[in-house]
Amino acid sequence: MQSYPVAHIDLTALQHNFACVKQFAADSRVMAVVKANGYGHGIVEVARALSSSDAFCVARLAEALQLREAAIQQPIVILEGVNTAGDLQLAADNELSVVFTTLLQVELAVSTSLTKALMFCWIMVETGMHRLGIPAEKLEQAIQNLNRTDNISGSIGLMSHFANADLLGDKRNQQQLDRIMHCAKHYDLAVSMANSAAILSLPDSHADWVRPGIMLYGCSPFETQSAHSLNLKPVMKLTSTLIAIQNLQAGDEVGYGGDWIADHAMRIGIVSIGYGDGYNRQLSNSGLVVIADNVVAVLGRVSMDMIAIDLSHVLGAKVGDEVILWGCEQLAIDSIAKQANTISYELLSQINERVSREYHHGED
Ligand SMILES: *Cc1c(COP(=O)(O)O)cnc(C)c1O
Repeated sequence: MQSYPVAHIDLTALQHNFACVKQFAADSRVMAVVKANGYGHGIVEVARALSSSDAFCVARLAEALQLREAAIQQPIVILEGVNTAGDLQLAADNELSVVFTTLLQVELAVSTSLTKALMFCWIMVETGMHRLGIPAEKLEQAIQNLNRTDNISGSIGLMSHFANADLLGDKRNQQQLDRIMHCAKHYDLAVSMANSAAILSLPDSHADWVRPGIMLYGCSPFETQSAHSLNLKPVMKLTSTLIAIQNLQAGDEVGYGGDWIADHAMRIGIVSIGYGDGYNRQLSNSGLVVIADNVVAVLGRVSMDMIAIDLSHVLGAKVGDEVILWGCEQLAIDSIAKQANTISYELLSQINERVSREYHHGED
């Protein structure tokens, strides 16, 4: 009996979602965002399956190097940029693209002597999020400095990031867009602004390059619209196995702290998955799983390796049965994210290396 958690990754669904990006943003080039281990799906396998993506985005240098080691050829953009001369040289050696997110990073690029020039660089412009970005009034100086150094060959683009693209109709989105477009026009540079939510809802923001993340993995960036209604297909189905059955009497407590107490005689099941696999502990007493086509509740606290589930209405359940944690018709990850008071991004990227990933194409 196989009794460990498996993330089943449907690469055909991933490619379908990529095609949706191309439909929405037909005139833009695409940098598929594969940071955080491809949102938990496996960075290398995701990048290989998205071979028609024009480029990839990662957060950090180490992620970019992982892709180069796997012989991924496309441009790879490091969204947080790099902060030491050594890392800048590594980026240049591996033909990686950096985003200059602060004036300090610009100074580093100007003052370091690289043995090879950087290509396809970006400047992150501050337009309203106040996370990373160079303010518009410092842009002139940054662009001049970067144009002057021999460390950069090829063009530089302007990038920014929406803080509220998931809020449909929020006027701050238009403000951020106006700011970046104003800069792009003034300096006549390429623009990248749109994440998934903006690709789906702000066509004016598509510009030269779009940066889809969550929609590639088949999740909705909006609280009020399901992935299904956006024609996105779930990529990850997370499963594990029923490893024990307990018959409880009224008053029996379940799990750490006795946080759940049976009020009548009933059957519960123990499933081999827990927070040690990255299954969110906020799903204690609130999660749902599917067993034999029934949606049933998680009972008590999530342990490191196990959860307990309600089998009262699943009479035929037996040890060895498959349990689906998310990613099937009855249980979209977005609804589990709501149960956990979080977003699909967190649930997906938390799934760690203890969970084996199995790749397939479509229904096989
Ligand atoms: C993560 C990230 C994205 C992708 O966002 P989604 O909401 O997952 O589409 C795009 N741009 C930047 C700068 C990011 O950090």
